[in-house]
Amino acid sequence: MYGYSFELITGPMSCGKTEELLRRIRRCIIARKKVIVVSPEVDTRAKGDYIESRNGLWLDAVKVKHSIQILSLVKDAEVVAIDELQFFDSNIVAVITQLMKEGKKVIGTGLELDFKAEPFGSMPELLCIATEINKLHAVCMKCGCENATRTQRLIDGKPADKSSPLIMIGGDETYEARCIKCYELPDVKKKTKFVDLKVLQFDRK
Ligand SMILES: [Zn+2]
Repeated sequence: MYGYSFELITGPMSCGKTEELLRRIRRCIIARKKVIVVSPEVDTRAKGDYIESRNGLWLDAVKVKHSIQILSLVKDAEVVAIDELQFFDSNIVAVITQLMKEGKKVIGTGLELDFKAEPFGSMPELLCIATEINKLHAVCMKCGCENATRTQRLIDGKPADKSSPLIMIGGDETYEARCIKCYELPDVKKKTKFVDLKVLQFDRK
């Protein structure tokens, strides 16, 4: 029997998570294991029914809306690869636990922190149940150091405000990896309040 495991590859945007996932999938295919690749329907980056990494490699992937659907999809598979785990609903923790009970090898990727540098979706629980964790770092797009652990959201080239929504679909925002020193999260609400107050006082004179 193929021993169970849950290998979790995590880190910020552009750290090579999907490339690492594809490398591991390729090894499983060489070992003649039955592999299935699953990705969440919400992932706007992937086109069609395959996952595409930034270096152009691709693999057929099944799009899934609810994590519970994974259980019926993977019946014969020995290896279950799941991309973008942060986008799945909270049942994903129980689903992966069940896959391990069935003796499957699960390999997943996920952003550990959202653009606000807060834990993303079920990633904290998934990091707890993983049998192996691989934390990758990216190159900081601002200072060039190799310790980027955060994902910076930019809207029109400027750091996104704290109040912008967690998942933006079809927006013109971009993302880049940044280190802890270069990461920015402005709080526009606070700033506006302060400015308004000054204007008000000025008007009264
Ligand atoms: Zn930096």
